[in-house]
Amino acid sequence: MSIAAKLAQFGKQHIARGIGRSTELVISKGKGTYVWCVEGKKYLDLTTGIGVTNTGHCHPTVVKAVQEQAANLSHGQVNIFFQKPMLDLIEGLKNRMPSPKLDTFFFWNSGSEAVEAAIKLARQATKKQNIIVFQGSYHGRTFGTMALTTSKTTYSAGFGPLMPGVHVAPYPYFQQWAAHKADPTKFTPEWCGEEALRQLEILLKQRTSPEDTAAILIEPIQGEGGYVVPPKGYMKGLRALCDKHNILLICDEVQSGFGRTGKMFAVEHTGVVPDILVMAKGIASGYPLSGIVANKALMDLQPPGSMGGTYSGNAISCAAANATLRVFDDEKLLENCNARSEQFFSALRAKIPAALPKGVTVDVRGEGLMIGIEFMGVPYGFANSVAQEALKLDTIVLTTSIYETLRLIPPLNITKEETDLAIDRVVNSIAAASKAVKA
Ligand code: PMP
Repeated sequence: MSIAAKLAQFGKQHIARGIGRSTELVISKGKGTYVWCVEGKKYLDLTTGIGVTNTGHCHPTVVKAVQEQAANLSHGQVNIFFQKPMLDLIEGLKNRMPSPKLDTFFFWNSGSEAVEAAIKLARQATKKQNIIVFQGSYHGRTFGTMALTTSKTTYSAGFGPLMPGVHVAPYPYFQQWAAHKADPTKFTPEWCGEEALRQLEILLKQRTSPEDTAAILIEPIQGEGGYVVPPKGYMKGLRALCDKHNILLICDEVQSGFGRTGKMFAVEHTGVVPDILVMAKGIASGYPLSGIVANKALMDLQPPGSMGGTYSGNAISCAAANATLRVFDDEKLLENCNARSEQFFSALRAKIPAALPKGVTVDVRGEGLMIGIEFMGVPYGFANSVAQEALKLDTIVLTTSIYETLRLIPPLNITKEETDLAIDRVVNSIAAASKAVKA
């Protein structure tokens, strides 16, 4: 048995079975767009650990900042001190928010915890309880966020009863809505967005009245649910609906934030400012850090002592985040993201259809380097077969929840040449999986 196989066996024996895993690779090194497994084999990583290492694996600026911070101060408990790296981080983040109104921060460790912090704030501030989420949402795996996550029953089956007061509205997912209609040509994305808003109004009339509804929680581009971009105008309509009914709008930018979509936050593409914005993942290039931001007047409705946590805004993670922001500026990451996005989208849209079996259609969608590829008319498991074929080509890609969708999440500093390589390998993987369908 190889060393890698032995280690994988050891992992299977001793790591909780509840953790699902899409590969059996044992990795020990990462650099830029690549990871290496213990036996030295190099893989093109189009996952960035699900949108986390947006500056590439082990960016030297981040590594140096972490080393220096570890030697200086590794822990400055927020319920005891103000710590300098966190104050620096706020200084760096303040001007990158979708609006200067978003000026007051709370930091935590994971995306799920930050979503819970947003719900705690919404409930305390409005003195209302109910939360509306969307079909296909993913907000985490903790007890609170399990109730808010609807992308797959796997995440909550057997764990109930879940947190009460959560209601689910349709997300304007055009491809899936159109697929259920006899004549998809009659349905436009705009119609889908307007219909989703109508359904939301009905939910507020039939199930959870505005007097009971504290917040509407949305991913401005749905992640785990399928890399679904809402139709134009939808987010503006949602903002207006929230204002009309005095409901807070919370945007979960855990996956879509920190440059992933070519702007710092995905909601900036829509011109909408949420009341609370949730961030994590890409904020610190792989170090555990998350946070929420809101206007000071809203945030100050929480009594002192009601928020906090041992590792809340850990000093080393904050230093990694400060370095991450420096890399954004030094390497013009947003500009590169947009250039590579163009390269990916035009090539994938041109090349994928010819690689597919007859009768199968594809929707290549997303913003920036948040790239979803949905196959329609394929047998169940097709997207997963593509991911397995990609692995044979030393390339790691992910699927999304229940529909046949691949997601590509490369680092924002992926080069032009690496992008060409990624496109070739993804298209070839699709062709290989298609051959098995035809046969
Ligand atoms: N919200 C969204 C949109 C996410 O994509 C995720 C993680 N995939 C989470 C919340 C939860 O984050 P974490 O895994 O860090 O708890």
